[in-house]
Amino acid sequence: FMSIKIGILGYGNLGKGVELAVKAAPDMELVAVFTRRDPKTLQIKTQGVPVVSTDDIENWKDKIDVMILCGGSATDLPVQTPQYAKMFNVVDSFDTHARIPEHFANVDAAAKESGKVAVISCGWDPGMFSLARVYSNAILPEGNDYTFWGKGVSQGHSDAIRRVKGVKNAKQYTIPVESALEAVRSGQNPKLTTRQKHTRECFVVLEEGADAAAVEKEIKEMPNYFADYDTTVHFISEEELLKNHSGMAHGGFVFRSGKTGADKEHNHIIEYSLKLDSNPEFTTSVLTAVARAAFRMYNEGQKGCKTMLDIAPSYLSEKSGEELRAHLL
Ligand code: NDP
Repeated sequence: FMSIKIGILGYGNLGKGVELAVKAAPDMELVAVFTRRDPKTLQIKTQGVPVVSTDDIENWKDKIDVMILCGGSATDLPVQTPQYAKMFNVVDSFDTHARIPEHFANVDAAAKESGKVAVISCGWDPGMFSLARVYSNAILPEGNDYTFWGKGVSQGHSDAIRRVKGVKNAKQYTIPVESALEAVRSGQNPKLTTRQKHTRECFVVLEEGADAAAVEKEIKEMPNYFADYDTTVHFISEEELLKNHSGMAHGGFVFRSGKTGADKEHNHIIEYSLKLDSNPEFTTSVLTAVARAAFRMYNEGQKGCKTMLDIAPSYLSEKSGEELRAHLL
């Protein structure tokens, strides 16, 4: 028995999460962590595993079965995933939904050329939520989809607030509206506007002498980010922000409410929900299971870009088909 050799590229929140998830996987071992920073400045948790500069990554081509890419979606992954799919089987968590087709095409060209497998956009959304949407749409072709996020921190919205003049630091929570969740759950098939689905709550630390009223107005009127939502702004101290708002909990709900019957008289609700204490630790638990599947698909001779929609469920599990049929089917 040979364990699957894993490399981590990028040591931020996800990089640290993959390190923990690989440790928890019975059939995997961490071989090296790669970084664009000076490797001497990184302190990783696992003893005996080298931290290596990405400048030397080519030397590791034959020593790693799957490289888990942990860069950011905005600027890292659009470059890194095609680049490293030329050398390794890779898995990434690219989450800019509108740009997934373009990312897929770039990665597919690179992975087809090298003969490797590259699984993109893994995690929870995209990822487990995508699976929930595809399963439920296939089963209930007539119906409505609903996705709610939260309660959790939105990195993009927190960044947008930090760019407002007079703001020193900020955290933004996306919160699903309880009455909207209930209306969906009870099969009412409501038509919901953006404002009716989520509210936004902001915790803001002001720079000295900043005008609170002006900051609040600018946040609430910000197009795309806040203007279409009921937004609450709280001004707090930096200590309070660090003490009470540095958690990384998140989650959400995916629903399909669909009809069957000669007169469409029967309604069915599929609800998939996640309540995550740690967004990065959950996301990387998904990435690590997907790495196992990528390794198997590669060994079968598959190549090119894939998403979680292309992975058979049993490939994610370290258990054999026999064990799965006996205990989890
Ligand atoms: P981070 O900002 O923590 O890390 C991104 C990269 O920043 C690291 O890989 C690291 O690369 C680099 N970096 C530079 N300086 C530092 C530093 N001082 N400390 C830590 N990292 C540093 O991002 P996350 O890991 O939180 O998230 C990565 C992406 O994952 C997000 O952009 C998001 O799009 C995606 N994501 C997807 C989800 C899904 O469900 N599909 C869910 C959650 C996140 P290096 O070591 O090379 O410098």
